[in-house]
Amino acid sequence: MSLQTGFGFGLDERLQQREADGLRRDLTPVDSVAATSRVAADPGGDEPAFGDRRTIFAANNYLGLAGDEQVIRAAAETAREIGTGAGASRLVVGDTPAHRSLERALAERKGSERALVFSSGYAANVGTLTALDPDVIFSDELNHASIIDGARLSAADVEVYDHCDASALADAMAERAVTAAPGESWLVVTDSVFSMDGDVAPLAEICEVAEEYGAWVMADEAHATGVYDGGIVGERGLEDRIDVQLGTLSKALGAQGGFIAGDETLIEWVLNAARSFVFSTGLAPPAAAAAECALERAPAQRDDLWANVELLRDGLESMGYEVYGETHILPVLVGTREDAVALDDRLREAGIVAPAIRPPTVPEGTSRIRVAPQATHTHREIERCLAAFEAAGEEVGLL
Ligand code: PMP
Repeated sequence: MSLQTGFGFGLDERLQQREADGLRRDLTPVDSVAATSRVAADPGGDEPAFGDRRTIFAANNYLGLAGDEQVIRAAAETAREIGTGAGASRLVVGDTPAHRSLERALAERKGSERALVFSSGYAANVGTLTALDPDVIFSDELNHASIIDGARLSAADVEVYDHCDASALADAMAERAVTAAPGESWLVVTDSVFSMDGDVAPLAEICEVAEEYGAWVMADEAHATGVYDGGIVGERGLEDRIDVQLGTLSKALGAQGGFIAGDETLIEWVLNAARSFVFSTGLAPPAAAAAECALERAPAQRDDLWANVELLRDGLESMGYEVYGETHILPVLVGTREDAVALDDRLREAGIVAPAIRPPTVPEGTSRIRVAPQATHTHREIERCLAAFEAAGEEVGLL
């Protein structure tokens, strides 16, 4: 009897199920990445119709550098001089002066011997975790999907510890130590800034626990890169205790790509063994040049970002909203998913885009609106955002 295939994958049914579960996603076309942009009302079709301009508080372009004149010029000049794409893996003929120069700048900024850029932060996490292939990975329960995927793709046993809890990590290590084989390689991996809660991992405490067992520590600084000088790792003076510093070029640096920084041997190993590096075209040279220019421009933008963060946090809290976290990301607690969606809708009607974050992304009862201020939001835009939150909160019955 021959095996019959061709029954299909049931994609329609699976999409309908997602729809029924409230998990179906859609593209969100915008006409530019400026803080105020046109957003398509109906994303369907080849050419979505862009509606009114709305002010975006949903992007990770925290310093506004994706639209910075100098950054744009750096990308354009590099496209002309070197090319728009790398044309090959870095290990074949895709290694250009734009990559080398950016990696030197990143290593210097991160206080490390050397850095290595990938085509995305996602690729950096998956590539690095699989290349290191530790015996055990200890992972914060709220780590980013690219860490989870990298850990799954590696052959490691994965021990998930409670969010930002160094004593839970210590317990997990103590338990594992009972049955561990001599010489096992252990890696602790954590986001430094958590993007849905706006909180910061207790990196010094984590290092202390890890050092007791000779484990390595890897910090994913995707949301901290550019916003904090040298990331949270640099700000807390932990460069010598964090073995792998990972970051993205795609958020505050306004470009595209990811990177790791660490010692020479680490980088040499990862560039040989990370399949997402070896078998993928090198980062586009204009993105590398944009990121390098953005690294130089970042300090000049930070004061404006923090001023906007303070204005928004103070304004929201004085209305009675609870705002989580301690960083430039402002998760505003709403509660039920229905209220969060209602608030999101009303904000949108008022010209403000700040997305509702619901379960399963966050725990039930903690649905929230994630407000991401940018250095380039004007005072008027911040005031409009606050006014919209006040009106929407009253309409939905939250205030
Ligand atoms: N790590 C974290 C913590 C992230 O939030 C993200 C992006 N959302 C990534 C890694 C992936 O970075 P990229 O967008 O450059 O692929």
